[in-house]
Amino acid sequence: MAGRRPELAASRRPCWPGGWCVVDKDLADQVAGIAQRVVASGAISANGHGNVSLRVPGAAEMYFTAGPSLRGHPASSVVRVGLDGTLLDGDLPPIQGAVVAMHTAMYADHPDVGCVLHTHSPYATAYAVAHRPIGCWTEALAMFGLPEGVPVAVYGPRGSSEAVAGIRRAITPGVPAVLLANHGVLVFHRTPDLAILVGGIVEEAAQAGINAGPLGGPVEIPPGLRAAALQRAMTFDRQGTVHA
Ligand SMILES: [Zn+2]
Repeated sequence: MAGRRPELAASRRPCWPGGWCVVDKDLADQVAGIAQRVVASGAISANGHGNVSLRVPGAAEMYFTAGPSLRGHPASSVVRVGLDGTLLDGDLPPIQGAVVAMHTAMYADHPDVGCVLHTHSPYATAYAVAHRPIGCWTEALAMFGLPEGVPVAVYGPRGSSEAVAGIRRAITPGVPAVLLANHGVLVFHRTPDLAILVGGIVEEAAQAGINAGPLGGPVEIPPGLRAAALQRAMTFDRQGTVHA
């Protein structure tokens, strides 16, 4: 990697065995850890396909998983990418390179977003394949920024300008997740913890929706009560843990 970015030579440091690089090992470790937690959450397809990115605070850059699967993703395969899509350090295979734009677009559009997750979590992807939004039929959706449910972005080849335009059209202010038609799910949030949480909530709601199908179909929470669910959660949150 030596010589790729001479202006950053001062920040070079020894990283993985046998080399010098300008990838910050702590951030790369963080991204690999997030990938591991996404897998542990269960909101992931059997092959582990997906990608995770983390905004670099104070810089127009992100760290991004360049490995083929989030399962066992090594920190050494995390790459540094500019928010203009330029690869700044590391090796980015074509399969992962093709979806960089849907991550960078979320950081560019939403200054508060710090982490973006993309998976093919199976139940959410079933809705994405059916072009069916997930309705607000679980309380967790109302509590975590999805009181209108999870919208569907129209199909475009993965990571293409058409796909990114579809994502932008589908998102309304404050919404932290979108289904990608014929593809999977994209979650973007302030922190990795919140992104992983919302990824799990979306998958749980999708599974509940499909399981409720033979029982007459899921029933959405009445719109007037969705804010009440959030208010009640916030009231309890303010009180904190109660001790006997
Ligand atoms: Zn994908």
